[in-house]
Amino acid sequence: MEIKEYCENCKEFRKLNIKEKSNDCEIRGKKYNYLELIGYCDKCGEIVTTNRLNDENLKRLDIAFRNEENIITKEQINSILVKYKIGKKPLSKLLGWGEVTLTRYINGDIPTKPYSDELFKILKSEDYFLELLEKNKDKITKSAYVTAINAIQSDFIVTSDIELVAQYIIEKCGEITPLALQKLLYYAQGFYKVFMGDYLFTNDCEAWEHGPVYKKIYDKYKSFKYNFIEQYIDFDIEDILDDDKKYLLDVIVKSFGYYNGKALEQMTHYEKPWIEARKNMPANERSNNIIEKKNIEEFFYKIKEKYDMVNIVEIKKYSEDHFNEVILYNN
Ligand SMILES: [Zn+2]
Repeated sequence: MEIKEYCENCKEFRKLNIKEKSNDCEIRGKKYNYLELIGYCDKCGEIVTTNRLNDENLKRLDIAFRNEENIITKEQINSILVKYKIGKKPLSKLLGWGEVTLTRYINGDIPTKPYSDELFKILKSEDYFLELLEKNKDKITKSAYVTAINAIQSDFIVTSDIELVAQYIIEKCGEITPLALQKLLYYAQGFYKVFMGDYLFTNDCEAWEHGPVYKKIYDKYKSFKYNFIEQYIDFDIEDILDDDKKYLLDVIVKSFGYYNGKALEQMTHYEKPWIEARKNMPANERSNNIIEKKNIEEFFYKIKEKYDMVNIVEIKKYSEDHFNEVILYNN
């Protein structure tokens, strides 16, 4: 990770050398150990604090605490929602909790041990969830109930995060080809990471001749070839994806969704992560080299800095500029 920050000592922006240091932090009278990241000015060697490292350190402490106490993570809570196709509010209601309890947990609040154990039980046992659902079905809407029942009865097909994101993009675009969908997934992954600190999904991206590709999604929609994807969705995605994910995806669709697949392909061909993963191979040679996640993060972090993006809506500065650049370059 490359960070530039203002050094009070040198009175200028400097690159930071980042080192890890073992640190104990006390929470409720107990010590938790984690590797803390510290940034040092590359000129004078003084410690320089930055929001980015602070955020990362808080995340590391959070993980250390949850590991030690065996508390469910927000990713695991998310996978409950995906697995049973149920929203945060309906699930809170099924459990007899406050309506926004799960929303708070997804946003980073740490569940108490009994609440966490209850969630682990649901994650691990379909039977337990079914029992809960049947017992409390009058607490949630009929459509939420039917959706969850269908999810359980459809041979427990778990829809992964990347499939959910893809479905949301398809629904928002209305008309989109598999090629364009791949590029939107790629931009969404990169910008979500640098704006929100997390990846949207864990899948690795491959550097194919036609640009970045997520294999799982390629396989799912390849039968549409160069046509628009038509799909039937039997549940309400709006209810399952977090608001911040939906917000970023809406901006991605508005910033990149108006270009066709070929234009987007060209745009990615002039970006470092794809170029580097291809390692100078001829343009039409096949490859499934991985585009490393850290390279995607690094690249989009630099874009964010270069365009001075503060708000997510400013992603459009890049899409427009890059589109113009690539088209001009080619003519
Ligand atoms: Zn300095």
